[in-house]
Amino acid sequence: TEFTAPTLEGLLLENIKLARFTKPTPVQKYSVPIVANGRDLMACAQTGSGKTGGFLFPVLSESFKNGPTPLPENSGSHYQRKAYPTAVIMAPTRELVSQIFDEAKKFTYRSWVKPCVVYGGAPIANQMREMDRGCDLLVATPGRLSDLLERGKISLANVKYLVLDEADRMLDMGFEPQIRHIVEGCDMTPVGERQTLMFSATFPADIQHLARDFLSDYIFLSV
Ligand code: AMP
Repeated sequence: TEFTAPTLEGLLLENIKLARFTKPTPVQKYSVPIVANGRDLMACAQTGSGKTGGFLFPVLSESFKNGPTPLPENSGSHYQRKAYPTAVIMAPTRELVSQIFDEAKKFTYRSWVKPCVVYGGAPIANQMREMDRGCDLLVATPGRLSDLLERGKISLANVKYLVLDEADRMLDMGFEPQIRHIVEGCDMTPVGERQTLMFSATFPADIQHLARDFLSDYIFLSV
């Protein structure tokens, strides 16, 4: 098997080729068609399995096909600028979100999609100014994302894809309240227009509980 059209869009296929990814890893092979078919996903996959491509490829492919979502009325007013991402990816640490952001930069090359990364432990002022300038695909740690939401620098009204990566580690780090705050913020998206994808190395009771709360009619994938 290979990465092919029409499941994946042409510019994305070119960027995948530039990255010298010739063959999908198992998690990519299964997750790409599941997500491309509009389904929610709970995937058990380890770091190193290629799970980043597993969620980035179908999300970017659909985004490239659709073009930018029009901003709500008045969203461009200079006194109330904020980011309206169409895809939000959460992961537990600065290191992980930075890795995902680097992959996102590679695969959005020459596209309209602008990726951004925000994380805690760094000055928030710079990240707030960055959100002023707009962001289509946001990679974030839950605490900092929740903080930027509170400050009105991010709207989740346009979110079509919400990804929770390394969900088990995010719970271990105590991020459940922030994650719930963020997912509730996405509930503004009209029902049926948002897809939620969860990735976790393990599938203990607390992750099963989150999957039941956040995912609708989801497909379970274990690789
Ligand atoms: P991940 O599990 O997403 O962190 O990916 C682990 C490593 O494998 C990263 O360095 C990726 O760039 C690389 N990788 C992921 N998918 C592929 C692929 N289909 N072909 C070649 N390398 C890949």
